[in-house]
Amino acid sequence: MTSKNFEAALGDAEDAFQRTPDNPEVGLEHIEDAAILQLRKACRLLDAAEFLLERNGHFTVIIEASFVAIERSIQFYVEEKNYHVPGQRHTEVYELGVRSGLFSQDIADRLEELWLENRSKSYYRTGIAGEYRTSTVHRLATTLHKEIVEETRTRDCIC
Ligand SMILES: [Zn+2]
Repeated sequence: MTSKNFEAALGDAEDAFQRTPDNPEVGLEHIEDAAILQLRKACRLLDAAEFLLERNGHFTVIIEASFVAIERSIQFYVEEKNYHVPGQRHTEVYELGVRSGLFSQDIADRLEELWLENRSKSYYRTGIAGEYRTSTVHRLATTLHKEIVEETRTRDCIC
């Protein structure tokens, strides 16, 4: 990774993250509340996943988006309950889900196991993501999201 093109692209991306976003995404703009931002990012991921699912393809992307939506939804819940979400480590968010009373340790372990299973098999292509697996993970993500929205009684969901 030493080409001038690559270095220029990296420089532009670094620079972009130092600026106030121009033309910000509608629905995500002017949100000061970190928890609501997590929720809305989950809404958008699910919407995008749904769109791709209807087009019957890109299963790997749908599965990735669904797992990220699961994590963002959980992050919203725990931040709403005033738990600090320290890093972006995938395992941490499931543990916080347990501590904040969202679900049991058993559920957290199963979600984490599923995530690890996805990492090891479909993401790295030693197993290919298929339609059934994709639809179940997508349903898992939308169900979790909906239940969190109902339980917190938030009006900020844009699904
Ligand atoms: Zn939503």
